Amino acid sequence: AAKSEQKTCMFYAPEMDQLAARRLDLRNALERALRQAAFELHYQPVVDARTGKPQLVEALLRWRRDGELVRPDQFIPVLEEHPQLMIEVGRWVLRQGLNDLLHMQTVAGDGFGVAINLSSHQMNDPELETLAHELVMTLGLNPATITLELTESALVSDLDRARAFIDRCHGMGVQTAIDDFGTGYASLAYLQHFPTNKIKLDKAFVDPIDPNVPKSFAIPEAAITMAHALGAQLIAEGVETEVQARTLAKLGADMIQGYYFSRPLPLDELLAYLKAQHAS
Ligand code: C2E
Ligand code: CA
Ligand code: CA
Ligand code: CA
Repeated sequence: AAKSEQKTCMFYAPEMDQLAARRLDLRNALERALRQAAFELHYQPVVDARTGKPQLVEALLRWRRDGELVRPDQFIPVLEEHPQLMIEVGRWVLRQGLNDLLHMQTVAGDGFGVAINLSSHQMNDPELETLAHELVMTLGLNPATITLELTESALVSDLDRARAFIDRCHGMGVQTAIDDFGTGYASLAYLQHFPTNKIKLDKAFVDPIDPNVPKSFAIPEAAITMAHALGAQLIAEGVETEVQARTLAKLGADMIQGYYFSRPLPLDELLAYLKAQHAS
């Protein structure tokens, strides 16, 4: 047994070293990215399901690395392994997102909103509230135009902490959303204890929507009914086709987000999009 253990170790060790080294490189590169302002936010419109008018945007983080844009699934998991770095990047996102919101509101009106994604680590950031409060004051924003999105799995990972965090947000007048609803195994019994303003139905339940398959409506319909019963608005994510958009509107979804309306856009392109929408 000892011999085979040794063999296994010898076989795996170099690979693991390499992987660890690559992760360390990535972590150092992300630290540099933060210092050198190499992160960007792109913004995806979220539209009213009935009128198609944009109501808010979701801020989505990008990393400009050697001229190329890196999407968050390539680096958020690494940030998540380094809570302090995730917290610092998260503060940058909040600062940038709220500064950009001011520009959006000059075009789309001061009721226009932004949704910011939060990592579960940010619920432990002692400065997050102060920062949000300061930004709201100095920028003169209505806090109700700010939505903080927490994934269902982040909420479930620590229910008491999540509940307290949501209460503090609402205390400041900031809205909250449960992101990726349906994928994080939150039991319905828990959900009623989160008095959140918005529930975002995950793309996984939007993809299968097919008017010829009535069963494909079951989960979206149930989620919409449940959101409304809890006093929350339902946002359907990942809507790519007209059929999906029309079906979700008919089922009573409040807002819709997806490539069908717009991909995430850099600020200048978003402002042009909002101007065009406003004019029409
Ligand atoms: P998410 O919060 O669920 O964001 C929605 C993702 O779906 C975005 O991917 C968006 O570009 C994509 N998407 C939107 N509409 C469609 C569609 O119609 N079809 C398809 N196929 N995809 C669509 P993205 O930008 O790559 O972000 C991935 C995830 O990274 C986000 O998922 C979020 O969990 C995380 N993330 C992004 N920005 C931040 C951030 O600032 N902080 C934190 N903590 N996480 C972030
Ligand atoms: Ca989100
Ligand atoms: Ca989502
Ligand atoms: Ca997602």
